[in-house]
Amino acid sequence: MAWKRSVEYILKPKKRKGIPEGLWSKCPACSRILYTEQLLKNLKVCPKCDYHFRLSAKERLAQLLEEDTFEEMDANLESVDPLKFEDSQKYPQRVREAQEKTGLKEAVVTGEGKIGEYKAAVGFFDFPFLGGSMASVVGEKICRLIEKATEKELPLVIVSASGGARMQEGILSLMQMAKTSAALSFYSKKALPYISILTDPTTGGVSASFAFLADIIIAEPGALIGFAGPRVIEQTVRQKLPEKFQKAEFLLEHGMMDMVIHRKNLKITLLKIFKLFKIKPAVSVTKDEAERGNSSSVIMDKTTSKSGNANGK
Ligand SMILES: [Zn+2]
Repeated sequence: MAWKRSVEYILKPKKRKGIPEGLWSKCPACSRILYTEQLLKNLKVCPKCDYHFRLSAKERLAQLLEEDTFEEMDANLESVDPLKFEDSQKYPQRVREAQEKTGLKEAVVTGEGKIGEYKAAVGFFDFPFLGGSMASVVGEKICRLIEKATEKELPLVIVSASGGARMQEGILSLMQMAKTSAALSFYSKKALPYISILTDPTTGGVSASFAFLADIIIAEPGALIGFAGPRVIEQTVRQKLPEKFQKAEFLLEHGMMDMVIHRKNLKITLLKIFKLFKIKPAVSVTKDEAERGNSSSVIMDKTTSKSGNANGK
């Protein structure tokens, strides 16, 4: 029955022994195949063309904060379904799938952590979670983060990656723009720095509220940043838009932000800004002193600043 075997062979081809999944990654910009381990060591920036891959909230957190210093806030806040929204899928189902995919409850992770020797209130958007969209919970978490920074007099750093307001919560999502902006107006009275880091992509209601209300606005190279998409604008103004419109570098040239910084220089830039704003480094008690209960005698953490290129060029 040789014919039977050959038919089976055609219908059920043997699983090819090839490259294990995840070992190689393809750069979306230059199409080169990259060794994933090398890419990770390079902070997920293409070593050939400098394309900045998108990062999840967890990856971003690990890159910017000192190990084991992050204390998460409001980790269990979850969306409800106020409008009973349904399109091709029910909204709660969409949220559940996003939670399973990302291991997060919502599209932003907030808390306190140390950047170098400085304690800061930090927020990280997670684009894979429903496009980093802002609804009630995201807005509430950002507000609570700003309030915590105001109360504890901490510098504030928010790394955005968002498609904008989440349509499934309608006007409640839009309301978060006003809510977060109001919280920031209280924070601004404290003379502490709010640094907004815009990554690919930061658009819609996030870019139209807290992401652009910072004291210092930094973007990653090549990031798409804007409000509406270029096609919608072209149709509205009936004009051809310039090349690289809505790219970080274009916005920098037109005075919309302060710096475009390579990912490898982000942390050192934050440290320089903290120093410039005369933020006091966090203090830590030595083990002996803690045992003696002598809290008045404290030592400063060693300065971890290294020389770096602030403009990232
Ligand atoms: Zn590349």
